[in-house]
Amino acid sequence: MDAKIGVLALQGNVSEHIDAFLRALERMGHGPSSEVFEVRSPADLVHCNALALPGGESTTISRLIDKNGLYEPIRSFNGGIFATCAGMVLMATSVDDPRIHPLGLIDITVDRNAFGRQRESFEMDLAIDGLQGAPFHAIFIRAPVVTSAGTRVNVRARIDQGIVAVEQGKHMALSFHPELCDDTRLQEQFLKNLGITPIIR
Ligand code: GLN
Repeated sequence: MDAKIGVLALQGNVSEHIDAFLRALERMGHGPSSEVFEVRSPADLVHCNALALPGGESTTISRLIDKNGLYEPIRSFNGGIFATCAGMVLMATSVDDPRIHPLGLIDITVDRNAFGRQRESFEMDLAIDGLQGAPFHAIFIRAPVVTSAGTRVNVRARIDQGIVAVEQGKHMALSFHPELCDDTRLQEQFLKNLGITPIIR
C-alpha cells in the first residue's frame, strides 16, 4: 500500500517530520506514489492514511486545531497517528493543563512539562520494547511523560520520571523527537503496523 502521510502543519517542527518520513519511505523502497504533505484543514486530511502530530507548543496547537475545525476530523480519522512530544500531549485522554483540549485517542494521562526548567533538554540511549538493534538515541525537549496508562495501551519505554513511549491500536506517541535524528526505525514500524510495508525490488 502507498503511504499518504499528512503532517499537521499548524505550529511546531513540521519540516523535520516531513523529512524524516521521506527518509523512512526511501529506506522502505517506496517511490513517488508514496507521499508526505502538510495538513492544515479537514479537506487535507481526507487524502491521508497516516498523520503526524509534531512537537511544538501543545497549548497553541490545541487552540489552532479547534480554530481550524480539525478537532472532530482528527478524532474520527481512520488512519494511524504518529505523535511526538506536544503531539503526545494532544493524543491523551487527560492532561494537567486546562488550556489543552485533548483528543482522547490514547488512554493516557500526561504531565505536560514533567522535567521542569532544570532539565529542559537532554539526550539518552533508550531501550524500546519491540525495537530491534541498538537502543534508540532519544532527544527530549521540554518533554511530557505519561503518568498513567489504561489497559489497552502498550507501554514501550519508560524512564525514572515515567512512561515515554506508548502505542494504542494504530497510534504511537513518544515523549521525545525521533524526527530530529537520522534513525527512522520507529517511523518504519509505525508504517508497517498500518500495512504500509517495505517494497522489495
Ligand atoms: N511540553 C511542551 C508542550 O506541552 C512540548 C515540548 C515539545 O514539543 N518539544 O507544549
